[in-house]
Order: sequence, then C-alpha cells, then structure tokens
Amino acid sequence: MKKELNLKSVQTQKYIQAWLAAMIRAGGQTTTDQHAQARIAVCEVCQHYSQVQPIPGLKMPGCLICGCPSLTKAHMKTYFSIGKMGLKVSECPHPHGNKWQAVDEIFSNN
Ligand code: SF4
Repeated sequence: MKKELNLKSVQTQKYIQAWLAAMIRAGGQTTTDQHAQARIAVCEVCQHYSQVQPIPGLKMPGCLICGCPSLTKAHMKTYFSIGKMGLKVSECPHPHGNKWQAVDEIFSNN
C-alpha cells in the first residue's frame, strides 16, 4: 500500500519555510499562491511528477527531472542556484519544453 505523505508535518513545514526564506534572502522573487497552485496543477498530470527527497528522510511531491519539491520551486519566480552561483528563473525542465509556460504567461503581471 502506498504510504501517504504528511505534508503538514512539522519537519515538512519547517523545510519549506526555511528553503523559501533562504531563497528570498538570496534575492529570489516569489510567485503568488494562485500562480504556484496553477503550476502545481500542471505538475500533477505530468509523467515526471512523483516523490522527491530534498533531504534524507523527507519525502515530498515533486519533479523527478530536477528533483525539486513542488511546494518550494513552484512558489519562486527566481531562486538561487548553487550550481550556477546566482539567481535562476524557476521553470519547468520537461524535456519536451517548459510545461509551466502558459501558466507563467497568465500570471506574468503578478
Ligand atoms: S517536468 Fe515540469 S510539469 Fe513535469 S513535474 Fe517537472 S516541473 Fe512539473
């Protein structure tokens, strides 16, 4: 039987809040909640959407291509990339093209 993820657990909520706070401190810009929910709705019907493990022992829904939890990356317009050592636009890495593009265009003025 598939184990349900407890997204309201203290550990999960602390991880999400700490990650978002770190990205904002690093200069990242957030989306509105409505924008993030629209992105997550796109992910929820994608074949690459499953469980990711951002830190050992913590599983969350997310993208198997980039490894990012949807409850973090979808809430950012830009985020700090350690690999690039700078701010990066938060976008869908789908091999057939950015699946968030249409949603991002709708929310581009927010
Ligand atoms: S490939 Fe894009 S749409 Fe699919 S889960 Fe990853 S971020 Fe979401």
